[in-house]
Amino acid sequence: MQLKYLADLHIHMHEDFPPYRSCSVEDVVKVALERNVRLVGIVEHYGSALLHYKSIENYCSKIRKEIEAVEKKFPGVEVLLGIEASILTVDGELDIKPEEAKMLDFLLVGMHHIPAGGSCLPREMKGKVSVGDIKGNPSYQTFLRKFKFGDLIADWQEATLSLMQNPYVSIYAHPVQWPIVVMKKFFIKLRPKEKWCINRIEDLLPPDIAQEIFLEAKRNGVAWEVNNGFLPVKYRVDNEYVCCKDDSNSWSELIELFKMIREYGVKVSLGTDAHVPGELKRVGRLANAIELLRLAGVKEQNIVLRKNQVKLCREL
Ligand SMILES: [Zn+2]
Ligand SMILES: [Zn+2]
Repeated sequence: MQLKYLADLHIHMHEDFPPYRSCSVEDVVKVALERNVRLVGIVEHYGSALLHYKSIENYCSKIRKEIEAVEKKFPGVEVLLGIEASILTVDGELDIKPEEAKMLDFLLVGMHHIPAGGSCLPREMKGKVSVGDIKGNPSYQTFLRKFKFGDLIADWQEATLSLMQNPYVSIYAHPVQWPIVVMKKFFIKLRPKEKWCINRIEDLLPPDIAQEIFLEAKRNGVAWEVNNGFLPVKYRVDNEYVCCKDDSNSWSELIELFKMIREYGVKVSLGTDAHVPGELKRVGRLANAIELLRLAGVKEQNIVLRKNQVKLCREL
């Protein structure tokens, strides 16, 4: 698939680890332009924005000034200011507050924890079981040792549906990888005698649930992100900046998922998840994402490539 211009709507302005280096919006845009990206989405994780800028208000005023200067200097580039928030509960509670979301251009939301308040985790555990490194995270290990597949799937479906109904959500980041796919590799270590049961797309999204979720996504204008890092090895056209060199963070049914998204006419957004400055070269490096969309038959008109195709928080 040959796209005239690209978009990268998932670029973090800080690295995730100390000393938390950062760079300017202009640095990001220069690399984006080299890669033919004309729509750039700047985000920070909600927690990192508070850590580095003290408040969402400060984050917005600082980055917005930079964006204004860069858009003047490089006409033709559109830069959006966003946050990558986390969903904490099955009924859709996010870490970011609505009054903070209103200050942004767009809100990207990912599932970085097992959503609480459903069948898997009590509500008090919200935000506690993160799907990162299981080492040093006893609550995650305990969870992995005893969860039931039906509960995990039901909670993912409920949390996902609530995101599709949330008026502030613009993009669903890496929609299946967290927690479903990444959990699998830890599950295999902690429950070696059991078989992982989420294999086919129908295991996670049976037709009736898929219909409910994707009709809401379409009605509410929520785009599903195709993240460049997770394409299964056999389909990859670029092996740099992937989440794992093997298939342990990938899901063979990703293509089936995006076929479904295509059938429902839900929008798709492109994202690299680059954390600059360490991953500046990752910005706009989208060959795997585009290959996935080609394999799934997604057409250019369903890909978010310009600002006017993004559901903006401020228009609410
Ligand atoms: Zn994320
Ligand atoms: Zn991210």
